Amino acid sequence: MMNLSKEQLKDNLHKVQDTIGQMASKCHRQPKQVHLLAVSKKKPAEQIRLAFELGQKAFGENYLQEALDKQQLLFDLGIEWHFIGPIQSNKTRDISANFSWVHSVDRLKVAKRLSDQRPAHLPPLNVCLQVNIDNEASKAGVAPDQVLELANNIMALPNLKLRGLMAIPAPKESFKEQFETFKRVHDIMQKTPEMDTLSMGMSGDMEAAIAAGTTIVRVGTAIFGQRDI
Ligand SMILES: *Cc1c(COP(=O)(O)O)cnc(C)c1O
Repeated sequence: MMNLSKEQLKDNLHKVQDTIGQMASKCHRQPKQVHLLAVSKKKPAEQIRLAFELGQKAFGENYLQEALDKQQLLFDLGIEWHFIGPIQSNKTRDISANFSWVHSVDRLKVAKRLSDQRPAHLPPLNVCLQVNIDNEASKAGVAPDQVLELANNIMALPNLKLRGLMAIPAPKESFKEQFETFKRVHDIMQKTPEMDTLSMGMSGDMEAAIAAGTTIVRVGTAIFGQRDI
């Protein structure tokens, strides 16, 4: 596994922040409206620690056990942890107890468990609904025409705070196609009550996502380098 030096991480974080700032300005948005979530899956705890020391506070993880192991090693930092991976219902207890945000809720059963299992001393869990925006058979997520119903049901759950939508579109050939897809997610968000968050845009398509109104970009490779598979 290739670990980056603190200098390399600093460079990468600055480049990503610059991209966010430039794209936001170009679209007449405030750079502060676009939050950077550093996706640290498959990267060791020490890389997260260095990125945290460089000012990055929010980290996204896909695999529960890997995330819990790293949280234990980094308990001394005030990291804001986001769960962004597929959710098996037998994992909801640990997810609900150990994260501030979950981006990948796509069914009511999982949402109910996350709400029921949220520890009483913690504030409501922030959740985004993952929307299968390109209607891909292989992909997780609620169908676009089911978002409103799921959102209405989730709003009734006491220990969740519905924040918005998350999407991982199918790869696109051009900026224009990326933008149009993200724009459809944006339009669904605007039509759904309570929502203030769009979690979309990764290393390869964050500019189009910013142009389409995203509020959280989830960036891994552009910060930490390539991952081992
Ligand atoms: C891995 C991952 C990312 C980051 O992808 P990069 O291309 O490395 O920036 C973002 N979101 C999700 C859900 C991921 O699984």
